[in-house]
Amino acid sequence: MSFLGARVRRFLQQPGTADLTRYQRLISAIGAREAELAGRPDDTFKELARDAKDDAEFCAVGREAARRALGERPFDVQLLGTLVMLQGQIAEMATGEGKTLSGALAAARYALTGRSVQVASVNDYLAQRDAEWMRPVYELLGVTVGHIGQASTPAERREAYAAQVTYAPISEIGFDVLRDRLVTDPADQVAVPPDVLLIDEADSVLIDEALVPLVLAGAAPGTDADLEMAEIVRGLRPGLHYETDDEGRNASLTDAGARAAEAALGGIDIYAADQIDVLTRINVALHAHALLHRDVDYIVRDGEVRLINASRGRVAELQRWPDGLQAAVEAKEGIAASESGEILDSITVESLVRRYPRVCGMTGTAVTVGDQLRQFYGLEVAVIPPNRPCVREDQPDRLYATIGQKDKAIVAEVAAAHENGQPVLIGTLDIAESERLARRLTAAGLPHVVLNAKNDAQEAAIVAEAGAYGAITVSTQMAGRGTDIRLGGSGADDSAEHDRVAELGGLYVIGTGRHAASRLDNQLRGRSGRQGDPGGSVFFVSMEDELLTSYTPDAAVPRDVAADGRVRDANADEAVGHAQRVADGANLEIHRNTYRYYELIEQQRGIVLDHRDRLMRDDAALVALGSRCPERFEELEQTVPSDVLAAAARTIVLYHLDRGWADHLAVLADIREGIGLRALGTGALGGGRDPLADFNAEAVKLFTSLLDRVQEESAETFRTVSITAEGVDLDAAGLRRPTATWTYVVHDNPFGTVLDRVFRGLARKKDRR
Ligand code: ADP
Ligand code: MG
Repeated sequence: MSFLGARVRRFLQQPGTADLTRYQRLISAIGAREAELAGRPDDTFKELARDAKDDAEFCAVGREAARRALGERPFDVQLLGTLVMLQGQIAEMATGEGKTLSGALAAARYALTGRSVQVASVNDYLAQRDAEWMRPVYELLGVTVGHIGQASTPAERREAYAAQVTYAPISEIGFDVLRDRLVTDPADQVAVPPDVLLIDEADSVLIDEALVPLVLAGAAPGTDADLEMAEIVRGLRPGLHYETDDEGRNASLTDAGARAAEAALGGIDIYAADQIDVLTRINVALHAHALLHRDVDYIVRDGEVRLINASRGRVAELQRWPDGLQAAVEAKEGIAASESGEILDSITVESLVRRYPRVCGMTGTAVTVGDQLRQFYGLEVAVIPPNRPCVREDQPDRLYATIGQKDKAIVAEVAAAHENGQPVLIGTLDIAESERLARRLTAAGLPHVVLNAKNDAQEAAIVAEAGAYGAITVSTQMAGRGTDIRLGGSGADDSAEHDRVAELGGLYVIGTGRHAASRLDNQLRGRSGRQGDPGGSVFFVSMEDELLTSYTPDAAVPRDVAADGRVRDANADEAVGHAQRVADGANLEIHRNTYRYYELIEQQRGIVLDHRDRLMRDDAALVALGSRCPERFEELEQTVPSDVLAAAARTIVLYHLDRGWADHLAVLADIREGIGLRALGTGALGGGRDPLADFNAEAVKLFTSLLDRVQEESAETFRTVSITAEGVDLDAAGLRRPTATWTYVVHDNPFGTVLDRVFRGLARKKDRR
């Protein structure tokens, strides 16, 4: 019987999520075909899959194909997930429910209806793992599959994109879009037009990483470290010379601080209109000094500043802060400025996703960001019930007065569970905390593994063992994501080992602090209690935790504190929920404001791209130049074959267009910072001026002159550069395209934009009045 039971039906009617009741009929229809399909020979499945007249019929075929190819018969709830994704929605399915297979069936169906599908995976390792793991299913269904990682060559990428389904990390997809946009011959492009995007761990991509810019840069020497400013801010005293806000997101000079800086700089007025550059430099140095903390926000390793990704709590490879900030942190640490590059183009993850006419996805935790997904992407979330009811026991938070007392209690809790052999997974908020806790565990004689592998494959292998008898694993939040933790360890096909650990209560997850978003807490809890396994979870919290001190600094001091520091006030744990709501609100505001800036740039980018495509594909460049410089055109026509001349014209115009766009981006970035800082210094915003409107007005004005300028400059080059039967040599004229390019991810600016800071600053000032 593959009917959904009463429990499932109840789930389907859960309010506030997409209505799943109508899928019930489909699930029955799928079940009804099972016996008949089981009798069909393997070689008929391609045809059956191709000819499936609707999603339900396809799912029936897909189920039987998966059973044969993987030895796993997809559960009803997995097919429910597939159906939801085929409707262009986000399926919320808990960890261990088998999303990889649900997603693969959805991808196969899209492919068989003639669409080109990309599956955005969390990292290189998972893109490869999932593509290879699902390949037998795809093959049986007659669908081609490929995957891409950082190391893939252009030829490999082209081949992978040509497959009907392509697995790749979202950043690699974005980098290919950026690189493709800079080619001068369409044959050099690797990607295919955006069509269907299926996103694994959709909330990380669509919410946590949405505003991360993916950058393509032309190699160039690094920004000089601003040692002078680093030195000046080092001498400033907190409270006296500068203030930081409660959330640790903003630092600003006080009047005394401004005077001290002005004196150190030889008596200038840093708020004068012509000192905007100095003001920017001071502010950047101050942020590096006061707000970015070594071993929390970054580490220094091998003479380099390496960022720590806050949502993953581990070293973020290939990431850097926006240029000025990166150099300022390097100056603060007294290390050489790293190589930098002129930004040729950049795109945010959110803009990248919006290019796809069809987006769908899957994740364990989406429903709490349902509003944001609807608002920013028009996506609905459907909550899929678990295959077996979750029996994990989630205990209430344990609140302590100090961090020291909390740590002590955690170690005691770990020791108690370990004594029985119950596996414990300790989730920490950052690397520094992982290390602090590891030291305490060592001191207590508790053997443990700390997860801060530099490599996703290694991380996955370690996390997979976290459910083994007696294991103690310390891991930052997202480490080893996408890996299933089986009770008894990864080799536990042997069910005796599984059952032995299950009898001890299963995997015990201990969080060392609540995250700024409850969604991230739930991700951690979800690592335990998969597929109806027993398990438990508990979070330890202290009144000194950053979440509480940052977001609810005015919370009442607890009255009822035990000798060991345990806070017993009846309403004390409300503080955590309150702090999370405040943090949520702040993050939403940042998302909204930041997106409004990128929106305009993205529109302009689209216009430039369309123009560029036309230039690349026909003789538009030659026609334009010929009509501007008729004499030169006549002259060249006599000596240069027409196709060579057309190619030369194209090269010239593309050069100036790409150059112009890179300059435009740089100017926009300056304006954005400049407007904000000027407003911050003079209080101009108080007069009701809207910095976003200022920015838009300037950006539109600059953009209208951009295309004119490109034409003029191209005409000038066309008139003066040497063009022969061999073509044009722009290098000889000093007009060099960047030879090498490289890509990186700009770390989500931890403070929001300068303007976000201004908005927040104003809001606070208003409050105080
Ligand atoms: P998720 O991404 O939802 O956390 P995975 O796709 O990683 O889950 O799958 C978790 C585990 O469940 C894998 O080991 C997979 O082989 C197994 N699995 C998935 N679907 C089934 C099924 N229908 N029957 C049995 N095992 C399954
Ligand atoms: Mg997964």
